[in-house]
Amino acid sequence: MELIYLDHAATTPIRSEVMEAMLPYLTDKFGNASSIYGWGRQARKALDDARASVAEIIGADFNEIVFTSSGTESDNMAIKGAAWEYRNKGRHIITSSIEHPGVLNTMKSLEKEGYEVTYLPVNAQGLICVDDFKQALRDDTILVSIMHANNEVGTIQPIAAIGQIAHEHGIIMHTDAVQTAGALEVDVNELNVDLLSFSAHKFYGPKGVGALYIRKGIRLVPLIHGGNQERRRRAGTENTAGIVGLAAALELADKERPEFTGKMIHLRDKLIDGILKIPHTRLNGSRTQRLPNNVSVCFEFIEGESLLLNLDMQGIAGSSGSACTSGSLEPSHVLLALGLKHEIAHGSLRLTLGKDNTEAEIDYVLKALEPIVHRLREMSPLYHS
Ligand SMILES: *Cc1c(COP(=O)(O)O)cnc(C)c1O
Repeated sequence: MELIYLDHAATTPIRSEVMEAMLPYLTDKFGNASSIYGWGRQARKALDDARASVAEIIGADFNEIVFTSSGTESDNMAIKGAAWEYRNKGRHIITSSIEHPGVLNTMKSLEKEGYEVTYLPVNAQGLICVDDFKQALRDDTILVSIMHANNEVGTIQPIAAIGQIAHEHGIIMHTDAVQTAGALEVDVNELNVDLLSFSAHKFYGPKGVGALYIRKGIRLVPLIHGGNQERRRRAGTENTAGIVGLAAALELADKERPEFTGKMIHLRDKLIDGILKIPHTRLNGSRTQRLPNNVSVCFEFIEGESLLLNLDMQGIAGSSGSACTSGSLEPSHVLLALGLKHEIAHGSLRLTLGKDNTEAEIDYVLKALEPIVHRLREMSPLYHS
């Protein structure tokens, strides 16, 4: 049986070139980058090269990149770090209602500390309205955190416009770019952001390593205190192999993006058009302001979980929305924010393409999907009532 992986928004397989770049730092080149002898200098050089390369790709300076353990840590560091540092300027933060839990639950923890958070709504297309953002601004707003693209429905937000307005008001702008780094051109100056999170395992790098861009002049209270690593912004001996892997993966993604984007958009649109031919089915999120690899749909009268199990039996790996909420019975907060009713949000399916998916795989998925949906609906009391 074919095995078809269509959950690249959850994680991607590590590329062999990336693993090869990392391997020396897991074996012979094991030194601690803070040591002065040869092994240490070797590791330091690898970190410096990785940092320079990552900085160049996103339009940043060498010293503006801090390596972390994940996208989640980068989000926490950006948001808590800025909220704590600038707490005497104000305690109001603006975010959106469709953020990843790495942002949303960080906001919740700041609310317990007395910060006030405005959660901007999205329209039915899953997009934030810039006017809503302007309305939410206050004199005591210190931070804005809006994701670049959503991990469930793939919508791409107007970050450059929001960032520009934030800057006109002297407010710090953070974006969670975990879904876009590698996939889209990400330039911190074009996006008008001060803080930007990303994570290697979403662009064919290793798990457990991420980065945060911190614009020169922005101070953050560190989450982790200790040694002088990362210019005292994030203590702990550097994950040399992981950081080398992150940089290698981002370089490859950046170089090959023109080649893969067109192909993915073609397969994405084929999948969307094919799925929408099934009756009582709708696309979630904007058709145009959308990640090249994201297909998110809802099937009425169906439980997304049953659909996933049936797809799995046919060798197809998909998701009901977010790896972080699967297992819970609550429908996705993102789909509810788009205005979907609970029972419809329960019938969601997210298929996210990767660079190696083929046309034949998409044909196979479309062929498999229709009879599964039909069978599940036949079993559903709602479908017949
Ligand atoms: C995956 C993801 C994260 C979390 O990144 P980790 O490295 O897995 O912690 C944060 N935000 C978004 C939008 C994501 O897709």
